[in-house]
Amino acid sequence: MSTSQQWIDRAGKHIAKNYGRYPLVPVRGAGCRLWDADGKVYLDFLAGVAVNSLGHCHPKVVEALQKQAETLIHCSNYYHIPQQIELAEILCAHSFGDRVFFCNSGAEANEAAIKLARKYSREKHGENRFEIITALGSFHGRTYGGISATGQEKVRVGFEPVVPGFTYVPYGDVAALKAAITPATCAIMLEPLQGEGGVYVPPTGYFKAVREVCDAHGLLLILDEVQAGCGRTGTLFAYEQEGIEPDIMTLAKALAGGPPIGAMVARETVADSFGPGSHGSTFGGNPLMTASGVAAMRALLDEGILENCRAMGDYFRERLEALKSRYSFVTEVRGRGLILGMELNIDGGGIVVKAMERGLLINCTVGKVLRFVPPLIVTRAEIDEAMSVLDGIFSEL
Ligand SMILES: *Cc1c(COP(=O)(O)O)cnc(C)c1O
Repeated sequence: MSTSQQWIDRAGKHIAKNYGRYPLVPVRGAGCRLWDADGKVYLDFLAGVAVNSLGHCHPKVVEALQKQAETLIHCSNYYHIPQQIELAEILCAHSFGDRVFFCNSGAEANEAAIKLARKYSREKHGENRFEIITALGSFHGRTYGGISATGQEKVRVGFEPVVPGFTYVPYGDVAALKAAITPATCAIMLEPLQGEGGVYVPPTGYFKAVREVCDAHGLLLILDEVQAGCGRTGTLFAYEQEGIEPDIMTLAKALAGGPPIGAMVARETVADSFGPGSHGSTFGGNPLMTASGVAAMRALLDEGILENCRAMGDYFRERLEALKSRYSFVTEVRGRGLILGMELNIDGGGIVVKAMERGLLINCTVGKVLRFVPPLIVTRAEIDEAMSVLDGIFSEL
């Protein structure tokens, strides 16, 4: 077995340089713990960036993958795929949705949503209606559609020209949204809570107002629940807490309990605009990933995990608030369920490195917001452990 340093040296030779990586080589995971190639153990409060919501290697997910891997791994979408059908049934039974398109990532789910919104709108309102309003500070993925929809300049720099037809408005501002609507607008695409953008929770009533604006102008509401969906905020989907329903929702990250998957869920009337040949994916919805998705969704729904997310979310938040009251460089604690952000008025990057050295994995977005997205199965003792690491680091600053 190679050491972490040996792997890091080899990575330097042939791995593309598009990530700034920490000097950590995870080789094994169980629950909220990760082990590196040198045998050091970490408490994982990043969870693969909100992917490992059931913890690492959840037994039901592992079992489903093992069973499916020895039965049928891949077949074409020219045929009907039972595991895909089951996962679509689960998603539709528990959401506003009627039809599901499966793909392999969040960016791909958003591509599908953008394509469906444009096609629906052209069929319904004519060819001059294709623009989509998104939010500043949003994140919608790294494909051309994704970076064009993303309201952050930094993801587009150097890759222009991007896809035309996107307008950006401040998140949480209904007046700005109304002012941005033109006869060319076809949809509004938002995260139910901004993740990568710094864990921003919308003001109360924002989504009710957005839904009204959409209805008044005949616009589609697309919710990007790639990070906030699948239980992360304490309900299966984040929109449930807003008292509204979208027309299209995108999912990915935690949907299959770890393996790569993406899904676009739509209402029948909108989904109707996709006919045979409209869109597709070779791997999307393959038996292996959707079997994993069925096992992950059943575990999420049947094992009390949403309840744990709400209870531990409240507890974790209280502990973070208590820390805030003791350290003046902490300016705000925000979030919902188990996606929590702690804003600092100092650089957060150094704290992430110190935490890693002390065996706690977290990350930092937009330079100064510590982001906590632990597995939803996290325990009170694990939160206490993370808090004592953070407290130790803060006390030395
Ligand atoms: C992670 C994320 C994406 C992109 O998902 P990928 O699987 O990396 O393509 C899109 N939207 C949101 C809100 C995300 O958090």
